[in-house]
Amino acid sequence: MLTAVLTAIIAITAIALVAGLLLSLASRRLPANVDTLVDQVNELLPQTQCGQCGYPGCRPYAAAIVEAAVAINLCPPGGQDTVQRLAALLGRDAPTLDEPVAVTKVALIDESLCIGCTYCRHACPVDAIVGAHHFMHTVIAVECTGCELCLPRCPVDCISMVAAR
Ligand code: SF4
Ligand code: SF4
Repeated sequence: MLTAVLTAIIAITAIALVAGLLLSLASRRLPANVDTLVDQVNELLPQTQCGQCGYPGCRPYAAAIVEAAVAINLCPPGGQDTVQRLAALLGRDAPTLDEPVAVTKVALIDESLCIGCTYCRHACPVDAIVGAHHFMHTVIAVECTGCELCLPRCPVDCISMVAAR
């Protein structure tokens, strides 16, 4: 009886050890590959965070490319060169760049309220904001992609989004 109990305990312990080992091996291999690949794809994207691909920024698009096999030709700022580089990295075909998602809204600074702190200018990934320290800043609407990254940076809340013309 005692032998049977001991054998059962040893067997269960052995199974648990093997399962634990396999799980830790799997957890070490799988996420790292996916995360690393997402990082590699993200590094090839232009980091304009503009959302013209239909995703809320470059990294979410990179994750969708890797994890959901989304098309690699949705990034207008990256151009056909980026499509080629992504295709080479992922071993996929390189389709022609897709039509950009139109920019429907752009940032507008209320210049009467602007204190010239430059925070928004540093937040803009496409350099669409001009201004000098302590002087009013303004948005070059044709350069703005509507990414809204500048809005939360304004300490006097004088930036709003308006319809693109
Ligand atoms: S001005 Fe603002 S909304 Fe426009 S691209 Fe720059 S950070 Fe984005
Ligand atoms: S963050 Fe606001 S206050 Fe500062 S420069 Fe930009 S618009 Fe002006």
